[in-house]
Amino acid sequence: MRGHFFNKPPNWLKFITPGLTWLLPNDDKIIYLTFDDGPVEKATPYVLDVLNDFKAKASFFVVGEMAEKNTALLQRMAASGHLIGNHTYKHLNGWKTPAQIYLKDVLKCQQFIDAIVPASSIKLFRPPYGRLTKTQMGILKKEYKIILCEKISGDFQPNLDFPRALRLLYETQTGDIVLFHDSIKCYQNLEILLPKFLAFFSERGYTFETLNMD
Ligand SMILES: [Zn+2]
Repeated sequence: MRGHFFNKPPNWLKFITPGLTWLLPNDDKIIYLTFDDGPVEKATPYVLDVLNDFKAKASFFVVGEMAEKNTALLQRMAASGHLIGNHTYKHLNGWKTPAQIYLKDVLKCQQFIDAIVPASSIKLFRPPYGRLTKTQMGILKKEYKIILCEKISGDFQPNLDFPRALRLLYETQTGDIVLFHDSIKCYQNLEILLPKFLAFFSERGYTFETLNMD
């Protein structure tokens, strides 16, 4: 997702959209990091290195056409124990795309992922911009866990106010799904936010896991 203006989705939104996952409540100090829009040479190797430094696992929602250009990075994600989710092939906006075209695009992304990395037991999908029509959602729900997020890092914002962004990020709680982007556009912010975030919560005894939702 990108282009969100709110840091935390309002509760009423969760109430009217059953079948979507915003967080995975637990008492075990587990945080779920997610990275959208990659993989890309400029950002993804950096993310993988930093995650490795903190022994953190994460879930990557890849854009099919990016993954196609960066097959080795997709393989490296999987080999490092991260989970790979579907973020459409062309980063489509569900509200602006007829259901049939949208679903074909999701399938194209999935076929590509499945051809490169071993299929995982659960299939994850995150709609670009958080936008899906009811029809699209109804069909995708049958095959995918649809993952949104509880905490938005703000890494996509130009001229990001770092102290404020970090203050908000440090309010993350156990079970929260946190959104970052491994994209060229977000790299400048990500490079600063991600290691600080990981250090802050590691020091406080948190661990970072993939969205294992069996
Ligand atoms: Zn996105």
